[in-house]
Amino acid sequence: MVKHGSEPLFPWLHRPLHEALALQAAHALLLHGPDGNGQFQLALAIAQSFVCEARRAGLRVEPSCGACAGCRLFAARTHPDVFILVPDALRETLGIPEAPMGDDIGSVVAAGKAKPSKEIRVDGVRAAISFAQSTSARGFGKTVVLHPAESVNSIAANALLKSLEEPAGRTRYILSCNAVDALLPTVRSRCVKVSVGLPTPDQAVAWLEARGVDQPRIMLAATGGRPIETLQWAASDIDADAWLGIPNQVAQGRVEPFVDWPLGRLIETLQKLCHDWICASIDAPPRYFPRQCLGDPCDVSRLLAWSAQLRNHARHAEHPWQVSLKIDALIQQGHSAFVAPIANEAAQVRGLSGPASLHFTA
Ligand SMILES: [Zn+2]
Repeated sequence: MVKHGSEPLFPWLHRPLHEALALQAAHALLLHGPDGNGQFQLALAIAQSFVCEARRAGLRVEPSCGACAGCRLFAARTHPDVFILVPDALRETLGIPEAPMGDDIGSVVAAGKAKPSKEIRVDGVRAAISFAQSTSARGFGKTVVLHPAESVNSIAANALLKSLEEPAGRTRYILSCNAVDALLPTVRSRCVKVSVGLPTPDQAVAWLEARGVDQPRIMLAATGGRPIETLQWAASDIDADAWLGIPNQVAQGRVEPFVDWPLGRLIETLQKLCHDWICASIDAPPRYFPRQCLGDPCDVSRLLAWSAQLRNHARHAEHPWQVSLKIDALIQQGHSAFVAPIANEAAQVRGLSGPASLHFTA
């Protein structure tokens, strides 16, 4: 079984893994693909194959043996020739331990900040470059992993350029990112790109089923086809039944199902709903919700205006709002966007409290 560290590698990453390993001469790889697709896991699997000593000795192990000293050190995140640089804010999520600055055994830059940064800053990049210039402890060259590459701020990116072009010794860089266009062209041009596509729906559903996810096709669509995120949702408080109920709840302006939601997640969900209501209104296939959950077509111009409001909310999602008021406002905006003027008038004529009951048959 192909592994990265002690975890099995996601099956849809096998092809790009072998593609990357075939690029023997490349000293800088740029893995890119949709968010939440496992680019970081792929970067680790490639890094492990670089330090696998059985592979280095010419044994036919694909892509790494998992048993040699290099693989064992890598799995323990203590390989002295591997440097993993991630923003402090992602360290816990990615399972990257903290290590004292300057400790080339831990191979990770220390946080040391009151509020974890979402950026990779110039001090981190300088530490990576200095690591790359030191002698390889196990004699097989060094590897630097940067993830996500778009979090490298512009000063840090400029500091990285020379080392990316002409790495010291046998150092290899592995950058992974979701938004390849967000990188400096000078960074992109110094790397060999490896595309990491989403799995096919059938491949993703089979993978989710094997992990006990209920109604995996619905849950997979809810995350836009991203199986890792789907698995995280399934482990939290969102299930398929709750997801299918969202359009009706928003259409009716019901706030209570959403009162405990983090704002970022609520805004993202409303953006998906807005997208799908627009699709349903122009007779296009929706992406995140089954068509039958979306109710009748409604006024596209209102939905487009709501979409613009949501983009604005997304930009300010981390503002310290009074969250309960903000959630209330978001749901009311969704409710208003769904209420087509004609249906609204019909509801008033009939003396109904809202038009949602006219739209939903369920
Ligand atoms: Zn090995």
